[in-house]
Amino acid sequence: RSRFTSEFDSIKFLGGGGYGRVYEVREILVNKKYAVKIVRGEEKALREVNALTVLADNNIVRYYNCWMEDTGYMQDSSADSSSSQSSGNSSVEYLYIKIELCDTKTLRHWIDEKNAKTLQDTNRRQESLPIAQQIVSGVEYIHLKKFIHRDLKPANILLRPDGEVKIGDFGLVTVDDVDDKNPMERTNETGTPSYMAPEQLENIYDRKVDIFAFGLIYFELLWKVSSGHERGKVLRDARNQKFPREFPLTFPQEEQIIRSMLCKDPKQRPEASALKAELEKLAHTLNPEKTEHHRNV
Ligand code: ATP
Ligand code: MG
Ligand code: MG
Repeated sequence: RSRFTSEFDSIKFLGGGGYGRVYEVREILVNKKYAVKIVRGEEKALREVNALTVLADNNIVRYYNCWMEDTGYMQDSSADSSSSQSSGNSSVEYLYIKIELCDTKTLRHWIDEKNAKTLQDTNRRQESLPIAQQIVSGVEYIHLKKFIHRDLKPANILLRPDGEVKIGDFGLVTVDDVDDKNPMERTNETGTPSYMAPEQLENIYDRKVDIFAFGLIYFELLWKVSSGHERGKVLRDARNQKFPREFPLTFPQEEQIIRSMLCKDPKQRPEASALKAELEKLAHTLNPEKTEHHRNV
């Protein structure tokens, strides 16, 4: 009998694909809602849990517990042909990871909604900053605990209705176990190409790959694009520190900060802690009277 279907009900598919599936559930005993992520129980999958058990921070999705089952729950809205997850193969086990339920909206949706507006949203700059500050705060913490997230992108950053930002999807997390002098040679498990730092393709890299990805995310938070095609082009250019002509005129301080994060040489990119200070300063400049309580935590 499945622990998942006996202890939880109101199971709703939230998202996922290649690697795992995430469901919104109600835990019957305590009548509370959670998210449960189901992944194939390979050794790799345990890394996600290993990291989550260590990471406890306001800006990281909260982990509760996990268990194994020999079947993967398969009902979802898409009813697609991901037959790799079908049950019946008794040698395959599945890892169920119970985590905090966030809003169904990710940063991807937030950006897409802003971009769908006809005019540039005048609040976009003000609203982007606390989001960026919370991401960098989460990244600083991840790096402090000697992990590298490796898959930072808007779809992996969750939002809560109260505005709190939570970094999720630690499916590609790895240990940052070398000194600054020698970035480690790693296997070629890759993140998402458009957010991936150039050196990640060479398989020799360190925590600075997260800084590069965050640079692109912050750029995307600010800069309105009108189509997927334009987005692709603008992001490709940004990877080479080439921005639309108007970008440095509209967002001069942000442009400097983002440019530094997108340096080809990872050593030139700032650490998360330095970025946090930079963004704090920027918050003061943009919002002199409000900075004392820009975060409700
Ligand atoms: P992918 O392979 O697409 O990167 P994944 O299988 O690694 O996805 P996640 O990125 O962890 O899985 O989650 C997939 C999607 O499910 C997220 O993009 C988000 O929309 C949703 N989701 C994940 N965790 C939560 C959560 N705690 N609360 C609400 N929604 C969530
Ligand atoms: Mg994901
Ligand atoms: Mg993933």
